[in-house]
Amino acid sequence: MNVPLLDLKAQYRALQPEIEAAVAEVFAAQAFILGPKVQAFEQACAAYCGAPHAVGVSSGTDALLMALMAEDIGPGDEVITSPYTFFATAGCIARLGAKPVFVDIEPRSFNIDPQQIAAKITKRTKAIMPVHLYGRMAEMDAINALAREHHLVVIEDACQAIGSEFHGRRTGACGDYGCFSFFPTKNLGGAGDGGLITTGDAARAAKLLALRNHGMEPKYFHKLIGGNFRLDALQAAVLQVKLGHLDAWTAARRRNATRYARLFGEAGLAPQTVTLPTTPCAEAGLADDDRCHCHVFNQYIVRVPRRDELRAFLTARGIGSEVYYPLPLHLQECFRYLGHQAGDFPESERAAAGTLALPIYPELSDAQAACVVETIAEFLRH
Ligand SMILES: *Cc1c(COP(=O)(O)O)cnc(C)c1O
Repeated sequence: MNVPLLDLKAQYRALQPEIEAAVAEVFAAQAFILGPKVQAFEQACAAYCGAPHAVGVSSGTDALLMALMAEDIGPGDEVITSPYTFFATAGCIARLGAKPVFVDIEPRSFNIDPQQIAAKITKRTKAIMPVHLYGRMAEMDAINALAREHHLVVIEDACQAIGSEFHGRRTGACGDYGCFSFFPTKNLGGAGDGGLITTGDAARAAKLLALRNHGMEPKYFHKLIGGNFRLDALQAAVLQVKLGHLDAWTAARRRNATRYARLFGEAGLAPQTVTLPTTPCAEAGLADDDRCHCHVFNQYIVRVPRRDELRAFLTARGIGSEVYYPLPLHLQECFRYLGHQAGDFPESERAAAGTLALPIYPELSDAQAACVVETIAEFLRH
């Protein structure tokens, strides 16, 4: 049986008439840059996240970059983040001439370990950029408390976590800025690149709006050096349709995670041989049903023995998987100038070496999930 890591065609088949109608409206109006479609989507996203302001932008990467730009972060400044994330998180900090200061992850959540942040705060620290990796929120209470104490800005990298909740608040409403990506593989994926920034502060929102369009206000007068960070009207139209389905997709992802837990348990693999992801609710002994969004499972990450061999075995049998991410950022060639070495962030290195993403997309069937688990069991028997 073929089980892709992600099946966007299954999602599109269900939405095709709705999406085509939305796209046709944009073509009929021939209004492609910003405008009412983008505004309507921004308002819907702000309401969805529970954040007062939302600004649609060109990508998740640009969302992170613009949040840093809005805080005038640059040379001489430091920003604390995780070394175990997609490159963009630290890449944006470095592009602006600031220094990414890494703090290792907490192994159960794969998110920045709040216990280790304080030791990395210096006079030059301007911001903390927690990543809600795989769709599970970082420990925002502890992070916000540190930020308040040291007068730091909190920029949530929520690119993998739209709709996730921490103590009843959604991501995007838990820091000073929430940065989202609509890359097609995210839980809310566009028909191309797109992103969004939320903020609770009107002055920050106004600055982001200006930065998005070359710092231009009014037309052809530039107070700030911004860029072209605009979200396309076509993307906004598609995303608006999909936003209406996001909660149902999230619930389906969570049900798939529950099903994997049952299947891996029945196969005698978990918790003995395969370590499954957990959720904050489960860890706290709280109800963890599909109404709770403490983890939105953009990825379902397991720790397995002989990871690379297992991945090759799955690939040969038509089962998609992926390694997110094989090399932590402190060991990347482009960050050699930061002077890190292997062993500096042991939990990040251990996660990079021993974890695998399995198919978790909403349309995954019972038979497909069973096939994934059986194939892993077959590999582990040899
Ligand atoms: C996807 C992603 C980004 C970048 O988003 P793009 O829209 O691809 O630019 C940044 N951070 C994390 C954690 C991501 O997963």
